[in-house]
Amino acid sequence: MNIVLLGAPGAGKGTQAAKLVEEYGLPHISTGDMLRAAVKEGTPLGVKAKSFMDAGELVPDDVIIGLVAERLQAPDTDKGFILDGFPRTSVQAVALDGELARLERPLDAALLIDVDSEVIVGRLTSRRMCKQCSYIGSVADAVCPKCGGEMYQRDDDNEATVRNRLNVYGTSTAPLIDYYRGCDLLVSIDGDRDPALVFADVQASLGLDRAK
Ligand code: AMP
Repeated sequence: MNIVLLGAPGAGKGTQAAKLVEEYGLPHISTGDMLRAAVKEGTPLGVKAKSFMDAGELVPDDVIIGLVAERLQAPDTDKGFILDGFPRTSVQAVALDGELARLERPLDAALLIDVDSEVIVGRLTSRRMCKQCSYIGSVADAVCPKCGGEMYQRDDDNEATVRNRLNVYGTSTAPLIDYYRGCDLLVSIDGDRDPALVFADVQASLGLDRAK
């Protein structure tokens, strides 16, 4: 199954993607995780991306499109994939359509995890991430409950940057909701609930509960 996850930063895309990975073994392609790894390693891509990320702005389309196109060549994507945080602009969405048409692997669904922006500000400013395994937890997690790793606050999870990321989302990414609705691929889920309930809806709306 080929899935795009849509939703504002902090809507719970990463959490739902992790559950899909655990249950169905689909590769999770998170452009945010790929960029953070590049920043950590100090690669030319990481150096270029860091200032955009720290300001809550989008990394230029050509950089990110090349990164995803390359990742989609990897054989583990043959059985399907979960794209998380990509596409984020109309240019990226059109480029993705082109790449998937070339690979003859059309999208099955664009899954929108829908959460109100004020809920998101609260969630993101109290969010903490594991340095080792990228587990997403909260300020209440002293160490990673999954691997015992050190938890940290992402540089872009402070309130000013969060508000800018939400503005960028509203301007550049939210129009993709209509784009995918027009392609008859949009599946919208209320994300302001316990992650397990959200996941039950995700499974049901993708028909995965019947597939297992
Ligand atoms: P995320 O972890 O998805 O919230 O992404 C963190 C940051 O990485 C974003 O605020 C952007 O600066 C950058 N980023 C991630 N994905 C993309 C994308 N598809 N296009 C442009 N920038 C991106």
